[in-house]
Amino acid sequence: MDRINIVNIPFVKTTLDDMAKTLVLHAQRQEKAFVVTANPEIVMKADQDPKYKEAVLTADYITADGIGIVKGAQLLGENLPERVAGFDLFMRLLATANEMEQSVYFLGASDDVLQKTLAVVETEFPNIRIAGSHHGFFDWEDSQIPDEIKREKPDYVFVALGLPRQEQWIASHIDQFDHGVFMGIGGSFDVLAG
Ligand code: UDP
Repeated sequence: MDRINIVNIPFVKTTLDDMAKTLVLHAQRQEKAFVVTANPEIVMKADQDPKYKEAVLTADYITADGIGIVKGAQLLGENLPERVAGFDLFMRLLATANEMEQSVYFLGASDDVLQKTLAVVETEFPNIRIAGSHHGFFDWEDSQIPDEIKREKPDYVFVALGLPRQEQWIASHIDQFDHGVFMGIGGSFDVLAG
């Protein structure tokens, strides 16, 4: 996938459709992928915090989740086809996971929001296999979550810990896993839970 450097971040030149298709292919082929949908908060935090930026730059795909970056690309004479937002990509991947009866691990948010999210998923996407879940307020050193992910081998792992924790969690654990599409999705569980 072609990329363009803006504020020292290599954004992929992709549409929501193509990004989703690419990630679905990774999941089908049992490959591993880390995707960051970089909204303005993520871009700003990466600019201010070198450690966070390092974690973000380990991602395989960084999409422009903000119209500012899309417009910035135009000013540089480059083309980022459209904004690829985290929530939209999350919903797209849930829909395909449902169609393909794939498995998903849900990590993050309060236990209450997480349980509501799981209930919505069970109703709206009944063919998704829920590989496991854990709320987002856990001891970083506790290996229970990575152990469960290693055991269950989910096709997708959605991490809703907010920034900077979600990208840092993925970057520091992904080496332990053989496959799966890993993606930080901020407050998306809260939105889905309603
Ligand atoms: N969150 C979490 N663990 C934390 C901090 C936040 O699970 O240690 C969850 C929070 O409950 C919410 C989501 O992460 O569901 C996004 O949080 P927030 O809105 O603060 O982050 P942002 O969207 O600004 O990245």
